Amino acid sequence: MRVADGVEMLEITQEIRGRTATICPALLWDDRDVVLVDAGFPGQLELFRAAMGRAGVPFEKLTRIVITHHDIDHIGSLADIEAAAPGVRVLAAEGDRPYIQGERIPVKMTPEAITRMTAGQPPEQVEERRRAVAEMLKHVPTARVDETFKPGDELPVCGGLVVIATPGHTPDHISLYHRPSRTVISGDALTADNGRLNGPPAAPTLDMPLALRSVRNFAPFDIAAVIAYHGGLVRAGIRERLAEIPG
Ligand SMILES: [Zn+2]
Repeated sequence: MRVADGVEMLEITQEIRGRTATICPALLWDDRDVVLVDAGFPGQLELFRAAMGRAGVPFEKLTRIVITHHDIDHIGSLADIEAAAPGVRVLAAEGDRPYIQGERIPVKMTPEAITRMTAGQPPEQVEERRRAVAEMLKHVPTARVDETFKPGDELPVCGGLVVIATPGHTPDHISLYHRPSRTVISGDALTADNGRLNGPPAAPTLDMPLALRSVRNFAPFDIAAVIAYHGGLVRAGIRERLAEIPG
Protein backbone atom coordinates (compact mmCIF):
# COMPACT_ATOMS: atom_id res chain seq x y z
CA MET A 1 0.00 0.00 0.00
CA ARG A 2 1.40 3.39 -1.02
CA VAL A 3 1.63 5.73 1.97
CA ALA A 4 3.35 8.72 0.34
CA ASP A 5 5.89 9.46 -2.37
CA GLY A 6 8.76 7.05 -1.74
CA VAL A 7 6.97 5.29 1.14
CA GLU A 8 5.25 1.93 0.84
CA MET A 9 3.77 -0.30 3.52
CA LEU A 10 4.54 -3.88 2.54
CA GLU A 11 1.97 -6.44 3.64
CA ILE A 12 3.35 -9.92 4.18
CA THR A 13 0.90 -12.65 5.09
CA GLN A 14 1.74 -16.21 5.95
CA GLU A 15 0.27 -19.11 7.89
CA ILE A 16 2.46 -19.50 10.96
CA ARG A 17 1.85 -22.30 13.47
CA GLY A 18 -1.71 -22.70 12.25
CA ARG A 19 -2.74 -19.08 12.20
CA THR A 20 -2.53 -16.37 9.58
CA ALA A 21 -0.05 -13.66 10.52
CA THR A 22 0.28 -10.41 8.61
CA ILE A 23 3.20 -8.08 9.20
CA CYS A 24 3.70 -4.62 7.72
CA PRO A 25 7.34 -3.73 7.13
CA ALA A 26 7.96 -0.24 5.70
CA LEU A 27 9.87 0.47 2.51
CA LEU A 28 11.36 3.92 1.78
CA TRP A 29 13.25 5.06 -1.27
CA ASP A 30 14.71 8.02 -3.13
CA ASP A 31 17.15 8.38 -6.05
CA ARG A 32 20.02 7.01 -3.99
CA ASP A 33 18.66 4.53 -1.45
CA VAL A 34 16.06 1.84 -0.90
CA VAL A 35 15.52 1.23 2.81
CA LEU A 36 13.59 -1.66 4.35
CA VAL A 37 12.48 -1.39 7.98
CA ASP A 38 12.40 -4.82 9.69
CA ALA A 39 12.89 -8.23 8.16
CA GLY A 40 9.99 -10.54 8.99
CA PHE A 41 9.71 -14.06 10.36
CA PRO A 42 12.20 -16.76 9.31
CA GLY A 43 11.75 -18.10 5.79
CA GLN A 44 10.11 -15.02 4.24
CA LEU A 45 12.80 -13.89 1.78
CA GLU A 46 10.70 -14.73 -1.28
CA LEU A 47 7.66 -13.00 0.22
CA PHE A 48 9.74 -9.84 0.68
CA ARG A 49 11.03 -10.07 -2.88
CA ALA A 50 7.48 -10.41 -4.21
CA ALA A 51 6.07 -7.63 -2.01
CA MET A 52 8.80 -5.22 -3.17
CA GLY A 53 8.09 -6.21 -6.77
CA ARG A 54 4.40 -5.39 -6.29
CA ALA A 55 5.44 -2.01 -4.89
CA GLY A 56 7.48 -1.39 -8.06
CA VAL A 57 10.81 -1.31 -6.21
CA PRO A 58 13.14 -4.11 -7.36
CA PHE A 59 14.60 -6.16 -4.51
CA GLU A 60 18.08 -5.80 -6.04
CA LYS A 61 17.99 -2.05 -5.34
CA LEU A 62 17.91 -2.54 -1.57
CA THR A 63 20.74 -0.53 0.06
CA ARG A 64 19.82 -0.43 3.78
CA ILE A 65 17.84 -2.40 6.33
CA VAL A 66 16.93 -0.71 9.61
CA ILE A 67 15.86 -2.92 12.52
CA THR A 68 13.50 -1.62 15.23
CA HIS A 69 14.29 -4.46 17.70
CA HIS A 70 15.60 -8.02 17.75
CA ASP A 71 12.36 -10.04 18.19
CA ILE A 72 12.12 -13.08 15.91
CA ASP A 73 9.33 -11.59 13.77
CA HIS A 74 11.52 -8.56 12.96
CA ILE A 75 14.88 -10.22 12.22
CA GLY A 76 13.72 -13.68 11.10
CA SER A 77 14.68 -13.29 7.43
CA LEU A 78 17.44 -10.74 7.94
CA ALA A 79 20.34 -13.11 7.22
CA ASP A 80 18.64 -14.42 4.07
CA ILE A 81 17.91 -10.89 2.81
CA GLU A 82 21.51 -9.86 3.54
CA ALA A 83 22.78 -12.81 1.53
CA ALA A 84 20.40 -12.15 -1.37
CA ALA A 85 21.07 -8.39 -1.59
CA PRO A 86 24.84 -7.98 -1.79
CA GLY A 87 26.06 -4.61 -0.59
CA VAL A 88 23.06 -4.01 1.66
CA ARG A 89 23.98 -2.45 5.01
CA VAL A 90 22.13 -3.31 8.20
CA LEU A 91 21.56 -0.66 10.85
CA ALA A 92 20.32 -1.28 14.39
CA ALA A 93 20.39 0.27 17.84
CA GLU A 94 23.72 -0.14 19.60
CA GLY A 95 22.09 -2.13 22.42
CA ASP A 96 20.39 -4.51 19.99
CA ARG A 97 23.48 -5.45 18.00
CA PRO A 98 24.74 -8.29 20.26
CA TYR A 99 21.28 -9.89 20.27
CA ILE A 100 20.91 -9.71 16.49
CA GLN A 101 24.40 -11.10 16.00
CA GLY A 102 23.68 -14.03 18.33
CA GLU A 103 26.13 -12.95 21.02
CA ARG A 104 23.41 -12.73 23.67
CA ILE A 105 20.25 -14.71 24.39
CA PRO A 106 17.19 -12.81 23.08
CA VAL A 107 15.98 -10.59 25.88
CA LYS A 108 12.54 -12.24 26.18
CA MET A 109 13.96 -15.77 26.29
CA THR A 110 15.98 -15.58 29.51
CA PRO A 111 14.58 -17.42 32.56
CA GLU A 112 14.05 -14.05 34.31
CA ALA A 113 12.11 -12.62 31.36
CA ILE A 114 9.87 -15.70 31.18
CA THR A 115 9.14 -15.41 34.90
CA ARG A 116 8.31 -11.74 34.49
CA MET A 117 6.15 -12.17 31.39
CA THR A 118 4.16 -15.10 32.77
CA ALA A 119 3.53 -13.55 36.21
CA GLY A 120 0.07 -14.52 37.46
CA GLN A 121 -0.40 -17.37 34.98
CA PRO A 122 -1.11 -20.94 36.14
CA PRO A 123 2.05 -23.09 36.60
CA GLU A 124 1.16 -25.38 33.65
CA GLN A 125 1.11 -22.39 31.32
CA VAL A 126 4.42 -21.10 32.67
CA GLU A 127 5.94 -24.56 32.19
CA GLU A 128 4.57 -24.73 28.65
CA ARG A 129 6.10 -21.34 27.90
CA ARG A 130 9.48 -22.47 29.25
CA ARG A 131 9.38 -25.54 27.02
CA ALA A 132 8.39 -23.49 23.96
CA VAL A 133 11.23 -21.03 24.58
CA ALA A 134 13.76 -23.86 25.04
CA GLU A 135 12.68 -25.15 21.63
CA MET A 136 12.86 -21.66 20.04
CA LEU A 137 16.36 -21.13 21.44
CA LYS A 138 17.59 -23.96 19.21
CA HIS A 139 16.66 -21.96 16.10
CA VAL A 140 17.20 -18.31 17.02
CA PRO A 141 17.85 -16.34 13.83
CA THR A 142 21.04 -14.29 13.81
CA ALA A 143 22.47 -11.87 11.28
CA ARG A 144 25.17 -9.30 10.70
CA VAL A 145 24.81 -5.67 11.82
CA ASP A 146 26.99 -3.17 9.93
CA GLU A 147 26.25 0.11 11.71
CA THR A 148 24.64 1.15 14.95
CA PHE A 149 22.72 4.28 15.91
CA LYS A 150 21.42 5.96 19.05
CA PRO A 151 18.04 7.50 19.82
CA GLY A 152 17.99 11.08 18.55
CA ASP A 153 20.24 10.30 15.58
CA GLU A 154 18.96 11.28 12.16
CA LEU A 155 19.93 8.71 9.57
CA PRO A 156 20.93 10.49 6.35
CA VAL A 157 18.79 8.39 4.04
CA CYS A 158 15.62 9.15 2.05
CA GLY A 159 15.47 12.75 3.20
CA GLY A 160 16.05 12.02 6.88
CA LEU A 161 15.00 9.24 9.21
CA VAL A 162 14.91 10.27 12.88
CA VAL A 163 15.52 7.56 15.50
CA ILE A 164 12.99 7.81 18.37
CA ALA A 165 13.65 5.96 21.65
CA THR A 166 10.64 3.75 22.44
CA PRO A 167 11.89 1.26 25.06
CA GLY A 168 9.53 -1.13 26.82
CA HIS A 169 8.54 -3.73 24.26
CA THR A 170 12.27 -4.50 24.36
CA PRO A 171 14.87 -2.40 26.26
CA ASP A 172 16.40 -0.86 23.11
CA HIS A 173 13.30 -0.68 20.93
CA ILE A 174 13.31 2.28 18.52
CA SER A 175 10.80 3.82 16.16
CA LEU A 176 11.50 6.01 13.13
CA TYR A 177 10.17 9.31 11.80
CA HIS A 178 10.51 9.88 8.07
CA ARG A 179 10.80 13.63 7.75
CA PRO A 180 9.72 14.25 4.13
CA SER A 181 6.45 12.29 4.44
CA ARG A 182 5.88 12.88 8.20
CA THR A 183 5.43 9.12 8.61
CA VAL A 184 6.14 7.26 11.86
CA ILE A 185 7.32 3.68 11.52
CA SER A 186 6.44 2.44 14.97
CA GLY A 187 7.76 -1.12 15.07
CA ASP A 188 5.95 -2.59 18.10
CA ALA A 189 5.83 0.63 20.14
CA LEU A 190 2.31 1.09 18.77
CA THR A 191 -0.17 -1.25 17.12
CA ALA A 192 -3.23 -0.61 14.96
CA ASP A 193 -6.59 -2.16 14.30
CA ASN A 194 -8.62 -1.20 11.23
CA GLY A 195 -7.07 2.24 10.98
CA ARG A 196 -7.27 2.97 14.70
CA LEU A 197 -4.06 3.56 16.63
CA ASN A 198 -3.48 1.46 19.77
CA GLY A 199 -0.74 1.08 22.36
CA PRO A 200 1.96 -1.57 22.48
CA PRO A 201 0.85 -5.24 22.28
CA ALA A 202 0.22 -6.54 25.81
CA ALA A 203 1.41 -10.16 25.75
CA PRO A 204 4.84 -9.84 24.10
CA THR A 205 5.88 -6.57 25.79
CA LEU A 206 8.64 -6.96 28.37
CA ASP A 207 7.98 -3.79 30.40
CA MET A 208 4.48 -2.43 29.75
CA PRO A 209 4.66 0.65 32.05
CA LEU A 210 7.85 1.73 30.26
CA ALA A 211 6.35 0.97 26.84
CA LEU A 212 3.35 3.16 27.70
CA ARG A 213 5.59 5.99 28.88
CA SER A 214 7.49 5.71 25.59
CA VAL A 215 4.32 6.61 23.67
CA ARG A 216 4.92 10.18 24.89
CA ASN A 217 8.12 10.29 22.83
CA PHE A 218 6.03 10.70 19.67
CA ALA A 219 4.46 13.93 20.93
CA PRO A 220 7.07 16.34 19.51
CA PHE A 221 6.54 15.09 15.96
CA ASP A 222 4.07 16.35 13.38
CA ILE A 223 2.70 13.01 12.17
CA ALA A 224 0.65 12.44 9.01
CA ALA A 225 0.70 8.63 9.09
CA VAL A 226 1.77 5.73 11.29
CA ILE A 227 2.86 2.37 9.93
CA ALA A 228 2.41 -0.18 12.74
CA TYR A 229 4.21 -3.46 12.04
CA HIS A 230 1.27 -5.32 13.57
CA GLY A 231 -1.94 -3.69 12.40
CA GLY A 232 -0.89 -1.52 9.48
CA LEU A 233 -1.60 2.03 8.45
CA VAL A 234 -3.21 4.81 10.50
CA ARG A 235 -3.93 8.23 9.04
CA ALA A 236 -6.78 9.57 11.17
CA GLY A 237 -6.94 10.67 14.78
CA ILE A 238 -3.25 10.13 15.45
CA ARG A 239 -2.69 13.08 17.78
CA GLU A 240 -5.86 12.29 19.75
CA ARG A 241 -5.06 8.61 20.12
CA LEU A 242 -1.46 9.32 21.18
CA ALA A 243 -2.84 11.53 23.96
CA GLU A 244 -5.46 8.91 25.00
CA ILE A 245 -3.23 5.84 25.15
CA PRO A 246 -2.45 5.65 28.87
CA GLY A 247 1.07 6.56 29.81
ZN1 LIG B 1 6.63 -7.77 16.45
